[in-house]
Amino acid sequence: MSTTIAQTSLTAAAEKYEPVIGLEVHVQLNTATKIFCGCSTRFGAPANSQTCPVCLGLPGALPVLNREAVVKAVRASLALNCQINERSVFARKNYFYPDLPKGYQISQYDKPIAEHGWLEVDAKNGGTHKIGITRLHMEEDAGKNMHEGFADSHQFSYVDLNRAGVPLVEIVSEPDMRSPEEAYEYLTRLKEIMLYLGVSDCNMEEGSLRCDANVSVRLRGAEKFGTKAEIKNLNSFRYLQRALEYEIERQIGVLESGGRVVQETRLFNVSEGKTFPMRSKEQAHDYRYFPEPDLAPLIVSSAWRDELAATLPELPRQKRNRLMNEYGLTAYDADVLTVSQELADYFEAAAKGSKNPKAVANWIMGDLTAHMKATNTTLADTKVRPNQIAELAALIDEGAISGKMAKDVFAKMAESGEPPRSLVASMGLQQVSDPAALEKIIDEIMAANPKQLEQYRGGKTPLFAFFVGQVMKATKGQANPALVNDLLKAKLG
Ligand code: ADP
Ligand code: ZN
Ligand code: MG
Repeated sequence: MSTTIAQTSLTAAAEKYEPVIGLEVHVQLNTATKIFCGCSTRFGAPANSQTCPVCLGLPGALPVLNREAVVKAVRASLALNCQINERSVFARKNYFYPDLPKGYQISQYDKPIAEHGWLEVDAKNGGTHKIGITRLHMEEDAGKNMHEGFADSHQFSYVDLNRAGVPLVEIVSEPDMRSPEEAYEYLTRLKEIMLYLGVSDCNMEEGSLRCDANVSVRLRGAEKFGTKAEIKNLNSFRYLQRALEYEIERQIGVLESGGRVVQETRLFNVSEGKTFPMRSKEQAHDYRYFPEPDLAPLIVSSAWRDELAATLPELPRQKRNRLMNEYGLTAYDADVLTVSQELADYFEAAAKGSKNPKAVANWIMGDLTAHMKATNTTLADTKVRPNQIAELAALIDEGAISGKMAKDVFAKMAESGEPPRSLVASMGLQQVSDPAALEKIIDEIMAANPKQLEQYRGGKTPLFAFFVGQVMKATKGQANPALVNDLLKAKLG
């Protein structure tokens, strides 16, 4: 009883407040070499095998900016509707940590490469919500401290500098999100765009997509934002959402009990599902930012910017809208089919040669996806070609096979890669749609079952199903069901 009351008042309190969320996302650019030297960026190489005097921070070594990293940063910025600054400046962010041999990180500060963008997410009540993007800036990654996995880990930590100098962009959002689900949606859409652009593999486990969440709460209707906490260590989409849910509830609890939220950096503890204070919030001036003297300002001319803008692919949201318009797909189907460019291309290849794009979409989202999952294969290695999906859908529409038979054909096709038409023949699945043949079978069944016929005609109408069953049995399930129904109705009277 008391828990019910406690829960009710908590819900009531939760409704009094509105969460405010802004995300800071690091995306690792997938260039072959690092941002300021020629070292490889390949993931998983032996520790410290991909280093040189530049990324080790040895005296006298000078950085040289990787043009490809700039290309990818500009393309990412344009896809996020940002304005590109013609002149941006690299800056030193100074702090000590063992994974940072130079004692500073080369980043961008007051003159980032891009600002003032936005990204659209689906709003809860339908429609879309624009989330502002404050800025996108370029920077180098730090190395990685290794505290576990060595025989002497209880005594020592190690540093792997392979990651030091790998190019990143940091994408800072405006505090425009209003729920953990919306933050989840924003990160999903952001990742999708980066994947479509091909500028990052966005692999969260390998650290090529990282997210810090800033969150505060305020009374609904209040204008002023509350004090925020920044949550780190969110290495999955689910953790982002769970950490925000916990943190929002915690802040509401603090305020409701008359306390004040302190501005701090908190860490999400996965096993407890809670956030814990990590350190008080650092300020920009703590880092003693100053312009990097070893690098000239970065100039992106408007001509170069336009040239790169012309290389942008059709982005997920545009593609979704087009698929809905061109093929009459629902928003849900279009969403599922644009989850990757590859899947969308596959769908379009199949739908182009089909009179029934909706059926094609269903085969892809249903049986094909299930088959790939079950066999742990991908679109690249599945034996089912897009035109075969179209053919299968056509066979049903022509009445050649039933939907149920088509499932068997699909299974065989996925196994052998044989085209559905020849499978239908070799499997002896041709649906019986010839009225004369069916009438003959029905006559035989009526003759063989006089008692049922009499009962049916005497008013025992549920026996209709019995006759349907007999026809199906006689044709090994291959009779066209709609036709059987019509013929039986006519014959039984
Ligand atoms: P800081 O000075 O702490 O770095 P910024 O203003 O640079 O803060 O913002 C960092 C991130 O925090 C941005 O993503 C921004 O949208 C978000 N943010 C700023 N203020 C708030 C707030 N009151 N509540 C939630 N998020 C916020
Ligand atoms: Zn190097
Ligand atoms: Mg800031």
